[in-house]
Amino acid sequence: MSFRARHLLGVEPLAPDEIVTLLDLAESYVSLNRRTVKHGDALDGLTQINLFFEASTRTQSSFELAGKRLGADVMNMAVAQSSVKKGETLIDTALTLNAMHPDLLVVRHPESGAVNLLAEKVNCAVINAGDGRHEHPTQALLDALTIRRAKGRLHRLTIAICGDIAHSRVARSNLILLGKMENRVRLVGPATLMPSGVAELGCEVFEDMRAGLDEADVVMMLRLQKERMDGGFIPSEREYYHRWGLDAEKLALAKPDAIVMHPGPMNRGVEIDGTIADDINRSVIQDQVEMGVAVRMAAMDLLARNLRAERGARAAGDVYV
Ligand code: ASP
Repeated sequence: MSFRARHLLGVEPLAPDEIVTLLDLAESYVSLNRRTVKHGDALDGLTQINLFFEASTRTQSSFELAGKRLGADVMNMAVAQSSVKKGETLIDTALTLNAMHPDLLVVRHPESGAVNLLAEKVNCAVINAGDGRHEHPTQALLDALTIRRAKGRLHRLTIAICGDIAHSRVARSNLILLGKMENRVRLVGPATLMPSGVAELGCEVFEDMRAGLDEADVVMMLRLQKERMDGGFIPSEREYYHRWGLDAEKLALAKPDAIVMHPGPMNRGVEIDGTIADDINRSVIQDQVEMGVAVRMAAMDLLARNLRAERGARAAGDVYV
């Protein structure tokens, strides 16, 4: 099996064959999830803790469902009611949870790099469910599965990632993953919402949305992340929608069979027209949600296999020491 990772902290360390292994396994979970009885046993007997320091709807609920469907004991830490509110540090919280012997720790945190730091302190497999502006690996993987199913391949596609690139971990993880799989990635949005050093990222950058969408196969819209903005990044929401919001007229410049994506939550009428988001002939936004559960099942299944193998090897080693 070609999935060697101990943790899933980002897509950056994953090789293309590991990405394909994960997506192929996720396909089998898509089928399982469409059955009436949705039980697998890949995580039987394991304990999964979800530790979310930032709000989440899709990610947390899909990790919870994914763990339960595969037989794990799943615990959602209620951070708002926990000692975090009393000033406990991230590392103390992690060490406390570690002492309860979890096998999988799913963590979302507002600081970039916080999840990597935590992974160094615990004995279980850690999954990054989004850290600041850094990475959101399972989002990029579920987007990849959605694209592969809709387009029949995950290479040589023109993919326009549009909007608030600077604050988006979704954009960053997608840019890395789609680049590894040899696609042509374009970043589209106002200069104020482009990350610094964008020129070195090796993709085309467009301020003009019409030029950026020209002949695109995939149009991926991003939320304006107001919670990460501390100044005037956009003139006004109205003006933003006019120039960078996805409406029918701008979408008409992409390929006729181009798909529309959005990681959610959406600001309808700000970055995307509600009618387009709901158009089942163009929008794959609900498919992204469905793929999210399957991809998270696959990710935890693969990490659990590696964890069991590592523990098995260690136990065997103890016998001979
Ligand atoms: N849900 C995604 C994230 O957690 C995208 C967003 O919040 O806009 O990064």
